[in-house]
Amino acid sequence: MRPILKSQKLADVCYDIRGPVMEKAKQMEDEGHKIIKLNIGNLAVFNFDPPDEIVQDMIRNMQNAAGYTDSKGMFAPRKAIMHYTQEKHIHGVTIEDVYIGNGASELIVMGMNALLNGGDEVLVPAPDYPLWTAAVSLSGGKPVHYICDETADWMPDIDDIKSKITPNTKAIVVINPNNPTGALYPVEVLQQIVEVARQHQLIVFADEIYDKTLYDEAEHTSIASLADDVLFLTLNGLSKNYRSCGYRAGWMVVSGEKRHAKDYIEGLNMLASMRLCANAPGQFAIQTALGGYQSIQDLVGPGGRLLKQRNLAHQLLTEIPGVTCVKPKAALYMFPKLDPKIYPIADDQQFIHELLTEQRVLLVQGTGFNWIRPDHFRVVFLPNTDDLTEAFGRISRFLEAYRKR
Ligand code: PLP
Repeated sequence: MRPILKSQKLADVCYDIRGPVMEKAKQMEDEGHKIIKLNIGNLAVFNFDPPDEIVQDMIRNMQNAAGYTDSKGMFAPRKAIMHYTQEKHIHGVTIEDVYIGNGASELIVMGMNALLNGGDEVLVPAPDYPLWTAAVSLSGGKPVHYICDETADWMPDIDDIKSKITPNTKAIVVINPNNPTGALYPVEVLQQIVEVARQHQLIVFADEIYDKTLYDEAEHTSIASLADDVLFLTLNGLSKNYRSCGYRAGWMVVSGEKRHAKDYIEGLNMLASMRLCANAPGQFAIQTALGGYQSIQDLVGPGGRLLKQRNLAHQLLTEIPGVTCVKPKAALYMFPKLDPKIYPIADDQQFIHELLTEQRVLLVQGTGFNWIRPDHFRVVFLPNTDDLTEAFGRISRFLEAYRKR
């Protein structure tokens, strides 16, 4: 029989967060091992419950949720999203500019698929949330990574961005707050990115899914609020700020210079129609979530569980010799560095695999986030403080043994 091969479109597509090491972890769990998972930002499984009013409203609306909706989504949640963009000072957004999707993920892929032809380039941060790189590749484009500078609190390196622009560059992806680094970009940095986009007529894809998960009273600025003469696609959703990853409720808002983008927008509408609509129960949750009590504040504010866990994880991690880490200002992640002189790692996937099999702690290797060297990993600080303490004890023992090799 002829072998059945995956399509060539997938040749350059990579998504390691759910990759081979995770499969190994699943196999170990099936064999009865208890693994501490610091690998996925899935809040609900760590007992971060969604706001009760969202759950109740979804249950109440279940009977009304059996039909297809408008391809872009139901009117009421799109209107709530439109109001949300007004709160964030994004100008000129109408209901027609709002697309609801099965999570932001679906819309990320849609946004790239509608845009890219073979050879088109998209600037994507390194490190990145790897779906962005994968979506560009899957859509036939070429991801070109710009560096975020660890020595500058992981800010995008504007000179690096400029140096990587070619006549084929179509767009730039900005993930703010950032996964995996936890960085939050100040207005000045965002303005510089806008200026580059303006000069080179780039579309800005702004992934702002963690825009309410902010520590130390930090404030978030939507990059789309900074200009009306650049085209922005801003992505957000309920998954993180409302602990509802499984409801698959995300959205995308088109704003700024839309007049020259009619054809692209037609493409977006076509793809939105082809997938018929986003799941209706998830759509019902959006209006309630955005208009209701913002309980995320109780988790990230003084005494909040997420704040405590971030502080503990950062402290325990940076106590380990040869490990440094920029303290995250937002989101659910840290992206520590292992000093290569102390930990000469050649293959970070192998390193993470060994940690898993020897200590039963699951992390994701830095190269899984398109980081350029095998000297980082990502930590998700969602497990409770007991589990975090246990996990970092195990990581510390593993690294001690590694130093003695
Ligand atoms: N964007 C970023 C930066 C993320 O970290 C994630 C999920 O981890 C997503 C998008 C996907 O979000 P959704 O659950 O809405 O598909």
